[in-house]
Amino acid sequence: MQAEQGLKIEEILPGSLAEKSGLLAGDILISINSHMLRDPIDFMYYSGDDNLDMKVRREDKEFDIKITRKDEIEFGIEFKCLKVTTCRNNCMFCFVRQLPKGLRKTLYIKDEDYRMSFLYGNYITLSNLSAADKKRIVEQRLSPLYISVHSTNRPVRNKLLGNPKGPDIMKELKFFFDNKLRFNAQIVLCPGYNDGKELQQTINNLYRFYPYVLSIAVVPVGLTMHRKQNIRPVEKEDAEQALKTIGTAQKRFLKKHGNPIVYGADELYLKAGRPLPPLKEYGDLYQIENGVGMVPLFLSQTKKVKIPRILPHKKKFLTFTGVSFYPFLKKFTDKIMEKSNVILDVFPVENRFFGKSITVAGLLTGRDVIKTILDSTDGYEMILVPDVVLNSDDKFLDDVTLSDIKDALGIYIKKISSTPEGLIKGISEAA
Ligand code: SF4
Repeated sequence: MQAEQGLKIEEILPGSLAEKSGLLAGDILISINSHMLRDPIDFMYYSGDDNLDMKVRREDKEFDIKITRKDEIEFGIEFKCLKVTTCRNNCMFCFVRQLPKGLRKTLYIKDEDYRMSFLYGNYITLSNLSAADKKRIVEQRLSPLYISVHSTNRPVRNKLLGNPKGPDIMKELKFFFDNKLRFNAQIVLCPGYNDGKELQQTINNLYRFYPYVLSIAVVPVGLTMHRKQNIRPVEKEDAEQALKTIGTAQKRFLKKHGNPIVYGADELYLKAGRPLPPLKEYGDLYQIENGVGMVPLFLSQTKKVKIPRILPHKKKFLTFTGVSFYPFLKKFTDKIMEKSNVILDVFPVENRFFGKSITVAGLLTGRDVIKTILDSTDGYEMILVPDVVLNSDDKFLDDVTLSDIKDALGIYIKKISSTPEGLIKGISEAA
């Protein structure tokens, strides 16, 4: 939480410039070179100068700290999370509306904060930007932002947003274009609403903002079994049709700019039963966190990673993933077993918590993992838990912890990075 005036320091990293300057966790940074600090973005913006005059409050005393930045030494301050602004929409596909009751409070926060978009790539609809926000975005060059467009047709967009007062997104994006601010756009594909000709039109309209529109991602709507809204999932034919539209636009943009600009989410290819394009066709992977190019990146990494012939002798590991990624991971674990001396089995975990149609690993709950693996742990020495299923406190979505998994399954647990290298490292370190 931020202090009323200034920013409260949560942590000072050892050996950092902040530590050497005498700052302490709990101190409140009030201003830098007379600029009052509202949030960590202000800190980032104003702390880049070589000579800094910081006004600091410690308990009830205020004092100045002067810092001269000589070399590249890291500042090393961690602030508490931002108090985020929330959204004014009521999107028909909003994931928060599709959550069952009883999960941790933070999961129900409908954030719509351009600062979170700048810092962490969260998607915003630009429905609550004030004139002061816009001024700041331009002044501090807060870009690229990640913008949920869905449709450039205002009535269609507002229906999807559940907000009759939603702004004209073309006008909003023109503001970014005129100010030379870059952005990434996403279209959540909702069959019957923004597909077919609407999708074509939206892609064409967004293309008008090139080169400030860095990428346009088309992702299928995610629907849990707890939804109450009248909306259907993306089926094979919907995915095929969307990929056809995307492919036609990509060809045109590639010919003109050498850049496809628009991309289909991995899930669209999987739903259509089409092979995923090679990694080189994904440009700068601007929307990888949105599931655009994630599988191609993994596949490309599997080709580069070195599998040691001798891994821990006679060890038997197991790991797990979501249903959609299972075939790709299985192919890689088979390769590891072929080239080394470990046994590494992978389990596909069906999402019973949100419903079968949610197939990505990132939305698996600890309870579903336990249920899937519970009767199959005999002979295994360790479970390798991919970090994609955990939050920063190492908890699953349902607050199940790693030690809960260990207690329930009775075998060792090791958290690993969700990459081919992470898997190999996890196995090697378990020797
Ligand atoms: S913008 Fe829509 S999807 Fe995002 S939090 Fe608000 S209601 Fe939910």
